[in-house]
Amino acid sequence: MVMDKKTELKKIEQEVALCRKCSLFKTATNPVPGNGDPEAEIMFIGEAPGYWEDQRGIPFCGAAGKLLDELLSSLGLNRDKVFVGNVLKHRPPENREPRPEEVTVCQDFLDRQIKIIRPKTIITLGRFSMYKFLPLGKISRDHGKGRIVEYNGLRVIFVPMFHPAAALRGAEVEQMLREDFKRIPEEIKRLEEQPKVVEEEAKEEQLSLI
Ligand code: URA
Repeated sequence: MVMDKKTELKKIEQEVALCRKCSLFKTATNPVPGNGDPEAEIMFIGEAPGYWEDQRGIPFCGAAGKLLDELLSSLGLNRDKVFVGNVLKHRPPENREPRPEEVTVCQDFLDRQIKIIRPKTIITLGRFSMYKFLPLGKISRDHGKGRIVEYNGLRVIFVPMFHPAAALRGAEVEQMLREDFKRIPEEIKRLEEQPKVVEEEAKEEQLSLI
């Protein structure tokens, strides 16, 4: 049976709700699988649910989410037109950083969401999200600069951004995040006009280790 995108995403939501692959479910209140348009051309991927996200089961619904909404609306976008999710689907206690083993066991959910949605562009929010897709990335150097990467057989424009929570902590980062956001349409257009540049970060990383 061929399932439509909405049904396939729902199935992932149900699996996330039952997931016991790491211990985060024990301290979490609700799973936060991510939400938005199954046909979205742009996905925004953050790190992990925080307090409010855990309370409500909705990604980016606290202070950082308010800033994200404002930035989306500056581009004429809203949550109904994009998909917003996280690397981790359950909140780490006290908002501690994700552990490598948690990222590893959780990654299948996000990878499947990407495979179903097939976005043209993925905006990574913060370091953890950037490292998942661009392991050689450096946020201070690469923020706002898009690149085309072949990810699990899908050609995607990745644009790393500072995390909105970091922007709330410092005016300088906020200014850079706002400017990077403004330039998203330009970056997408620039990269769409350069169809030959396809990088494979995993290979690059392996070569750098030789
Ligand atoms: N920070 C994140 O990375 N994700 C959320 O959903 C909320 C805050």
